[in-house]
Amino acid sequence: MNAADRRIALVTGANKGIGLEVARQLGKAGHRVLLGARDNARGLEAAKALQAQGIDVRHIPLDLADAASLKAAAADIEANEGRIDILVNNAGIAEQSDGLPGSVDLDLVRRIFETNYFGTIAVTQALLPLVKKSASGRIVNVSSGLGSLTLNADPNWDYAAVKLTGYNGSKAALNMFTVLLAAELKDTGIKVNAVNPGYTATDLNGHSGHQTVEEGAAETVRMALIPDDGPTGGFTSTEGVDPW
Ligand code: NDP
Repeated sequence: MNAADRRIALVTGANKGIGLEVARQLGKAGHRVLLGARDNARGLEAAKALQAQGIDVRHIPLDLADAASLKAAAADIEANEGRIDILVNNAGIAEQSDGLPGSVDLDLVRRIFETNYFGTIAVTQALLPLVKKSASGRIVNVSSGLGSLTLNADPNWDYAAVKLTGYNGSKAALNMFTVLLAAELKDTGIKVNAVNPGYTATDLNGHSGHQTVEEGAAETVRMALIPDDGPTGGFTSTEGVDPW
């Protein structure tokens, strides 16, 4: 790959699941990967596994819930990398006992929002100055079809029965964050998009998803690498444009 085309990509929650696969695919495409993980041992092990596949990668300690770790990550990347070309906001959680709005445990809803929404805003704010240093910054927020107001309102949707107040609400909020951030950054060249990876077998859902992680990572990788005339402020999956 031409050195000028080589991007520096940070993926949050990249020690396993879709994030690890996004990191692997970006690395295999010739880009430098900063593998964000909140647990040092898990992060180092994942980075080692990718290095063994010939990928240029290093672990960055990064916990969305820990402001000090975000500050340290930004300082490290500023000193050692100089910029971030691609920020993939992948880290996220779901909880087993999430459920219907009339009875769901409010603390559970708060916990999910703390990671999926507030945590994603926090990491984005901490790293945005570094994305602004890129000649063509890209931010991809890993959302979900479950974050779509339109799909949730459709009683005939395949996942209409999945009414998770915490998770679905946090991803709907993340979609709003995507639209607002894309608007804020529209004159900077930074493209901000949300992606629905599709139902993918990972620890998040007890491996019940019907897609492999390769399939689940594909749209995020595509949106991470869109050209300068590519879209911003959108919501897509491998099937095309998703409804908000
Ligand atoms: P996994 O549970 O396999 O991976 C989640 C990752 O996020 C892990 O690396 C986890 O770290 C990390 N993480 C969680 N909380 C934090 C935190 N506070 N700080 C840093 N990292 C954190 O899930 P998936 O790979 O399935 O999920 C990845 C993304 O895809 C999520 O945003 C999810 O909502 C979304 N998604 C997944 C779908 C699916 O079907 N799997 C469908 C639609 C969307 P650790 O290992 O330390 O827990």
